[in-house]
Amino acid sequence: MIKDRKILVMVVAIAMLSSAILLSGCTEEKDENKIIVGTSADFPPFEYTDASGKIIGFDIELITMILESLNYTVEVKDIGFDSLIPSLQSDKIDVIAAGMTITEERDEVIDFSDPYYQADQSVLIKKGSGVEINASHDLENFTASIANLTIGAQTGTTGAGWIQENLIDTEMMDEENFKQYDLYLDAVADLDIGPDRLDAIILDLAVAQAFAENVNREVAYTIVTEENYGFGVKEGNTELVEKINAELEMIIGSDDWTALINKYFE
Ligand code: GLN
Repeated sequence: MIKDRKILVMVVAIAMLSSAILLSGCTEEKDENKIIVGTSADFPPFEYTDASGKIIGFDIELITMILESLNYTVEVKDIGFDSLIPSLQSDKIDVIAAGMTITEERDEVIDFSDPYYQADQSVLIKKGSGVEINASHDLENFTASIANLTIGAQTGTTGAGWIQENLIDTEMMDEENFKQYDLYLDAVADLDIGPDRLDAIILDLAVAQAFAENVNREVAYTIVTEENYGFGVKEGNTELVEKINAELEMIIGSDDWTALINKYFE
């Protein structure tokens, strides 16, 4: 009888202990294993929303594949491009997946993964709008030919930076003709209205091509900038960058990679 009670006490104690371990494991697991990915879902085919409002795209699938192989659960948050770096710095997100070009300036304030995509800038116009662009390979002729246009770009992007450096800082273009948008989608909406609103948009080539799937728009010029996209993590989070890079190395060139490229670029 005494022995039975002892066993009972022991069984209860073990049960309590293991449920306590289980519970604490659960809460820890929830925080540590969840990664919040920040994006700006106005950038097809890298990140955009499908008809149901779900955020999809090349970047989203790639980073999800990477993080899930690392046993993280992934939540995607849609944030304006210009707010992504501040959100990373204030721990509102853990990773940026937003077709973000690795630039020296950004690299000073956040850390980047290895590059996963190479990009150039381009000029998107409305077909039949009468906007004329000198598409010769001479960059100077081209730049001069667009200096009198109203040109848009998303705030904080390398496209906006290109306009600033090549047209505004050189005093070739009036600052009031440079329109900055929170979202590329809003710039495209203005382009569709026509030259009263906007003549041209400077943006990453693959994205311009995606917007030009609409027959009323066309890519008029490619500005070779040879940018590289990387995933961003908080400055100093070396552990996560290294893990992402190891996965990236395995994925690039694999069958999964080919499938992803075919799905979003062809
Ligand atoms: N690649 C460009 C940049 O990093 C544009 C990115 C974007 O608009 N999502 O600035």
